[in-house]
Amino acid sequence: MLTEKILQEFETILGKERILTSKEDLLSYAYDAYVEEYLPEAVLFPKTSAEVSQIMKVASTHRVFVTPRGAGSGLAACSLAKQGGVILCFTMMNRVLEINKPNRYAVVEPGVVVSEFQKEVEKIGLFYPPDPGSATVATMGGTVLMNAGGMRGIKYGVTRDYLMGLEVVLPSGEVIQTGSLTAKDVTGYDLTRLICGSEGTLALVTRIIVRLLPKPKARRTLQAIYHTIDQAGNTVARIVEEGIIPATLELMDKVIIKALEDYAHLGLPLDAEAILLIEVDGDQASVEKQAGMIAEFCRGQGARDVRVSQSEKESEQLWMARRGAFGAVARMRPSCVIEDATVPVSFLTRAIKEVRTIAQRNQVQIAVLAHAGDGNLHPLVLCDLRDQEEMKRVEKAMDEIVDFAMAVGGVLSGEHGIGIAKAKYLPRQLSPQALNLMRALKKTFDPQGILNPGSFLECAP
Ligand SMILES: Cc1cc2nc3c(=O)[nH]c(=O)nc-3n(C[C@H](O)[C@H](O)[C@H](O)COP(=O)(O)OP(=O)(O)OC[C@H]3O[C@@H](n4cnc5c(N)ncnc54)[C@H](O)[C@@H]3O)c2cc1C
Repeated sequence: MLTEKILQEFETILGKERILTSKEDLLSYAYDAYVEEYLPEAVLFPKTSAEVSQIMKVASTHRVFVTPRGAGSGLAACSLAKQGGVILCFTMMNRVLEINKPNRYAVVEPGVVVSEFQKEVEKIGLFYPPDPGSATVATMGGTVLMNAGGMRGIKYGVTRDYLMGLEVVLPSGEVIQTGSLTAKDVTGYDLTRLICGSEGTLALVTRIIVRLLPKPKARRTLQAIYHTIDQAGNTVARIVEEGIIPATLELMDKVIIKALEDYAHLGLPLDAEAILLIEVDGDQASVEKQAGMIAEFCRGQGARDVRVSQSEKESEQLWMARRGAFGAVARMRPSCVIEDATVPVSFLTRAIKEVRTIAQRNQVQIAVLAHAGDGNLHPLVLCDLRDQEEMKRVEKAMDEIVDFAMAVGGVLSGEHGIGIAKAKYLPRQLSPQALNLMRALKKTFDPQGILNPGSFLECAP
């Protein structure tokens, strides 16, 4: 419980102007991009790691619950004050501290917005590949704590693959450094990667060192339109089998195509069953060669139309559709629950068909987006939270999607995390021993249980 006296201690650290307490202000922090609401008691905006450390000392002395938050774009309620207490919002710690070209790394504060950081490094010929669909709002801290993926996962991997080190504040207020500025480092346990993807349950990240790549010299985007899901799925399989690794390989189904057309009038064909958006990058010659081969595969598998971008501007136009997909679909019904089950890539077509069957059987409307090259499905379940009968059917459909993913060796979440959204399924993927080991780790970092209470570990049965 946050008393007046504790609030005054926080005010001594931050001043009144960096603390929100009015109900109107707090409401903005009661949601993320999932569908539940939890009102915090206050929101604090630190600007330095020293302030974060002092805040945590006060919080641990009085056992105040603290939930860290970046932009609040998460899809699993991980940044919400599920058991009250304060939200520690990192958006004011938003400086790029160093971009080191000779050693190809950068040091940033956690509140830096991903797309702004990407633009910054690209100005000097460098490249930060992790590219979640939310890159224009999501913060570097949020993406580290969720180990965010995105559209370039098939070739470039996920956030974890670019992390070199962190500065973190432990729940006790102590500050530690993990990792280093060197390309190789095998000193002790890899705490950097343990904290990455921990959904804000172990420590507060106040500084991030990331690895950068040289910016690819050229890119081409292809858009292939199909009469059937099988044709699109077979194209994905063919590209993977041939050993070509595109930078992105995205699939949109007919529900998404229609939603996009209704919303943005992009000239997409309403009678198509699926569209693949594929990007290749690298040096000019290899890009031309790969684009040519992929266009052939698309036609060979029955694509009725294949468009290859001829300029940067045209590539951007083709990507506009994919970037607008969530927003366009979200307009269709009052609520939208985004699934994230991921299957081995060879099961992709079967998984999409299974999702359609599940939707029909349970009489719910589901649109399918997929980071197809990773086997990462995003079924978007369109619904109305206020309709309890419909929500029962939605829940059953989600259970069945999880059943299918588990049956074919898939995982509960490819990139959106577990949070409270998927905690009930955890024992389906993790053994009791693995869950207990995770709980023991949590206790070591946070013996009082003050950091992000009500997280996936506590909600798991
Ligand atoms: C339209 C849309 C598209 C999306 N596309 C993708 C996608 O392609 N790929 C993908 O992986 N995700 C995607 N997401 C999900 C979301 O954007 C990511 O999970 C992202 O990493 C969240 O970043 P954030 O700054 O909003 O963090 P938040 O949601 O605010 O927080 C995420 C987690 O990080 C913790 N946290 C935040 N900052 C800190 C810190 N400094 N120290 C400790 N803990 C911290 C929070 O407690 C929480 O557990 C999408 C979401 C939307 C709405």
